[in-house]
Amino acid sequence: MVSEFTGLTVSQICETIDILSPCMDDFVYVYDFINDFYYISPLAVRRFRLPDHQFNNVIKNFATFVYPSDLPELQADLDEIISGKKDFHNMLYRWLSPDNDPIWINCCGSLVRHEGTPLYILGCINEVGNRQQADNVSGLLGFPALQSYLLKKRNNQPQGYLLRLGLDDFKEINEKLGSDYGDLILKHTAKCITACLLPDQQLFRAMADEYVIVNFSDRSMEDAVEQYKNIRKTIDDFVRENNYEVVYTISGGILTGAQIAQSSFSDAMKFSEFSLNEAKRQGKNCCYVFNSEHYEKFLRRLKLSQLLRRAVTHNFKGFEAYLQPLVDADTNTLYGAESLMRFHTEEFGMVSPAEFIPLLEETGLIIPVGRWMLNTALNFCHEIQKTLPGFKISINVSYVQVLKSNIVAEIISAVAKHKVPPSTVIIELTESGLVEPDSRITKLGARLKEKGLHLALDDFGTGYSNFHYLNELKPDIIKIDRTFTLKAISNDYEFKLLSLMSNMVHSMDLRICVEGIENPGELSRMKALPPDYCQGYYFGRPCPFNEFSERFVV
Ligand code: C2E
Ligand code: CA
Ligand code: CA
Repeated sequence: MVSEFTGLTVSQICETIDILSPCMDDFVYVYDFINDFYYISPLAVRRFRLPDHQFNNVIKNFATFVYPSDLPELQADLDEIISGKKDFHNMLYRWLSPDNDPIWINCCGSLVRHEGTPLYILGCINEVGNRQQADNVSGLLGFPALQSYLLKKRNNQPQGYLLRLGLDDFKEINEKLGSDYGDLILKHTAKCITACLLPDQQLFRAMADEYVIVNFSDRSMEDAVEQYKNIRKTIDDFVRENNYEVVYTISGGILTGAQIAQSSFSDAMKFSEFSLNEAKRQGKNCCYVFNSEHYEKFLRRLKLSQLLRRAVTHNFKGFEAYLQPLVDADTNTLYGAESLMRFHTEEFGMVSPAEFIPLLEETGLIIPVGRWMLNTALNFCHEIQKTLPGFKISINVSYVQVLKSNIVAEIISAVAKHKVPPSTVIIELTESGLVEPDSRITKLGARLKEKGLHLALDDFGTGYSNFHYLNELKPDIIKIDRTFTLKAISNDYEFKLLSLMSNMVHSMDLRICVEGIENPGELSRMKALPPDYCQGYYFGRPCPFNEFSERFVV
């Protein structure tokens, strides 16, 4: 439909835009063809990379804030309007934020003509990804309302708390029962939470399956925990009343009013999200009160994960393979070495494997790093065997590598590539990551042995299903962890237990390696077992290849 000129001039439109600008989230604009002039709501300057809220030389200036690859299409659309082929502009494309990030916008505008000549387009820009203000499923206000409520209230009242609630495994409910059913659950959950609200509290919906209660009146953390328990109970009752048609739980993360007062809105949201996630990490169906030390640790883990990833993509810079001597207990001579991974960065210095190995496992990075370690250790072994034929290399393999990569094939081909006799290679597998026997793990032992390699069960005695694994894995060597060694040294009962175990292991024709021997006293006590191999600081600490070669390979 063509809009004919009604007598409304561009300057009158600009004045109207100024009046409307603070009243709306969208941005009204006018594009005046006669004067090649553009005017938009002044607030748009905060959101987009505009040169100003008014400018001439329109197409040229568009190039500064329209996403470059969307420019030709925009220009073609405007050309059609100016040439009279169409009268309505309706286009979905991207503008740039002040930080140069693309923002999807929908731009609509009606062309106004006067006696056939195009005068201007009057229209509106709205952000397609704009956050929903209200949620029609739960009937609650959303994030923007939470933000303005917090900003308005927090400074004058640094007391009370914020309780962020999230359904546990909500995705599964949606997957199993459909999203309509999921919506029903969300609606009921909102009702359950509303029923537990106390005077002066406000409830918002944060994300799909998360709710935030804000309490700025004088209530304590204990009150917050109590309220969380109340909500949990109300939901349990709802589940029961529905004859367990769907069983679900809710977790909670709590921030104090003081923490909110000290933080920006985005930090407060980060802390509350961390707290809720921490509750979920701690087993779900529970609540967690924000603790800045835990958060610092969490950030350190995050940073460390980034550094590990960067090292992997930069030729494993920062990783190093250390060697620790393994000693034959009968002859007290060098038998081989265990390869132990090290990681250092400028920022963190030397990081303990106890800290970074679990991160490598969680992120899956243990697969490339384990592969690098395998090759580095075999290369070292090949070098040492030039002087000491028969020298054994012991290599740690994580259960993640076994479950998520083709580790056996990799080991076998790496052993061949580095020209190391398979009979001189020991693969150490720790049982601590194994919750229950997995056929891929039990097959590992059989396949390695088929190829002539040896298998060691690491950290024996640290408290998992030990004996069970002897049968499942059929290892050649059992490594007794230092915690067990220490207990046996200081306690007769523990020593007897270890002795019995040692007899049993020997009767199965397996070998024993005692780890963590630090001094002659510990050695003589443990010799009574007797072990087949020993390892510990007494014989040598883990050290770089060159140092190991100088000390032990002569
Ligand atoms: P682990 O396999 O049980 O390695 C033996 C650990 O005991 C090493 O700790 C070693 O430095 C330490 N140790 C040796 N002798 C003594 C001693 O006399 N006293 C004391 N107090 N400690 C001793 P490290 O190097 O810190 O490694 C810790 C764990 O990290 C290893 O325990 C292993 O589970 C894991 N790890 C290390 N390197 C690798 C690797 O390349 N791959 C995998 N998957 N895990 C590795
Ligand atoms: Ca080990
Ligand atoms: Ca060990």
